[in-house]
Amino acid sequence: MAKDKIQAVKGMNDILPQDDPMWDFLFNALESVAHRYGYMQIRTPILEQTRLFKRGIGEVTDIVEKEMYSFVDSLNGEELTLRPENTASVVRAVIEHNLTYEAPRRLWYFGPMFRHERPQRGRYRQFYQFGMEAIGFKGPDVDAEQLLLIHRLWKLLGVHKEVRLELNCLGQFEERKNYREALIAYFEAHKEVLDEDANRRLYSNPLRILDTKNPNMQQLVENAPKLMDYLGEESKAFLKKLEDILSANGINYRINPRLVRGLDYYNLTVYEWVTDKLGAQATVCGGGRYDPLVEMLGGRSTPACGFAMGVERVLELMKECSIQRPYQECVAYFCWQGDVYQDVVRMAEMLRDHQIDTIVHSGSAKFANQMKRADASGADYAVILGENELAEGCLTIKPLREHLKDYGSQQTMKLEDAIQYLSTLSINQ
Ligand code: ATP
Ligand code: MG
Repeated sequence: MAKDKIQAVKGMNDILPQDDPMWDFLFNALESVAHRYGYMQIRTPILEQTRLFKRGIGEVTDIVEKEMYSFVDSLNGEELTLRPENTASVVRAVIEHNLTYEAPRRLWYFGPMFRHERPQRGRYRQFYQFGMEAIGFKGPDVDAEQLLLIHRLWKLLGVHKEVRLELNCLGQFEERKNYREALIAYFEAHKEVLDEDANRRLYSNPLRILDTKNPNMQQLVENAPKLMDYLGEESKAFLKKLEDILSANGINYRINPRLVRGLDYYNLTVYEWVTDKLGAQATVCGGGRYDPLVEMLGGRSTPACGFAMGVERVLELMKECSIQRPYQECVAYFCWQGDVYQDVVRMAEMLRDHQIDTIVHSGSAKFANQMKRADASGADYAVILGENELAEGCLTIKPLREHLKDYGSQQTMKLEDAIQYLSTLSINQ
C-alpha cells in the first residue's frame, strides 16, 4: 500500500539546489562586506531559554505575545523557545563569555529564525536573517558605520536604487516617558478610532500604535504628537552627528517620526531600509541602538547597536531587480568512453588539485547522453577522455557556453596543457 506523503511544516521552506547560486552569491556578499568592516561571525544555538526572549524583547511585543515557538522540554521540564531573532542570543553569549572584557566587539551572524506568523510572500515561519551587533560602542560613529556598510551591500548586490533609508531618534527612556504620556492622552481623546490591538497597547506600549498598518488609523497617527519635539539637547546632538556622517558620505535618508520599531530595548537611533518592490512586506532591514539591553540581560551597562536583515526579502528584491546567477554544478564535466575509467578518476583528481570544480559522469550512458548531462549541469567545459586520447596522454576540451573563448570548437591537448587551460580560465572567472 502506498504511504501518504509527508510535507514540510507550513511556512517553512526548502531551499532547493536551483536557488543555491543566488543564496551563495548573497551569502558571499554578506560575508565579504562584514569582513571589510572588521566584523567577526558569532554562531549561537537555535534554542534558548524562553525567559531570554521574554526579558530581552519585551512582553508587550508581537513576537512575545503571539509569534514564538515555545515548548516545555518533556525530558527535563525546561521552558525553551526557537529563536525568533538573534540580538538577545548574541548579547547573552557576549555576557556569558565576557567578550567585551578587554575591548568592544563587532559581531555578525547569519541563520534561521522562527516566528509563528501567517505565511505570505516575504513572511515565513522559518526565515533567515543576516545581522550585526557592535557591542561596547557609544556611537554615533558606529551607528553610521553600520549604515555605510548596509549601503555598500546594496550596491554590491545591485539593489541600491530600490531601497531607501528611514531614520528616527527615540531619545532616552526619560524623554520617551514624557512623550508616552502625551501620546496616551492624545489617543484617549480619540478612543473611538482605535482598533483592538491599539486599545490593548494603549497603556502598555502606546508607541507601538504609531506603527499600525490599519488604514483607518493612518490619519490619527499622522496627527499624533511627534517624539522629536520631546527630545533633549543630547539626543538631538547625537542624531545631528549621525546625520552629518551620513550626508558627508552620500547616504540619502528621510526622517520618519512615526518609526518606532517593535522591540522595547531600542534607544536613540532607529532605522529601516524599505522598498516599494515587495508589496506589504516592505522592510528589508531594521536596526538601531539598544544601550539598555546588556544590563537588562544581567551584564554590566554597555552601549550597543545593530541591525537585522530579512534574507528572503533581499533575495526577492534581487529577483525583482532581475539580478540572476547561473545554475552551475561544476566548471568541468568529465565525459568518457571505452576502458578508461581508472584514468578518468585519476585525471579528475588532478583537475581538483588545481582548484577546478569537476564532476565525473557516473555510469555507462551513451556518449551523447553524457554530453547532454554536461550541458544540464551548467558546467563551462566538457572534458572528454576516450581510448585514443588516453593512448596519446591527451584530453579533449569543449567549451559549452557561448560567452567562453573557443566556443563552437573542441581542442585536444596534452594533459598538462589542458589543466593549465582550465585552471587559468577558472581563476579568471
Ligand atoms: P515586520 O514589520 O515585517 O513584521 P519586524 O519588525 O517584525 O518586521 P524585525 O524583527 O525587525 O522585523 O526583523 C528584521 C527583518 O527580518 C525584517 O525587516 C524583515 O526583513 C525580516 N523578517 C521579519 N519577520 C520575517 C518573517 N516572518 N519572514 C521573513 N522575513 C522576516
Ligand atoms: Mg513582525
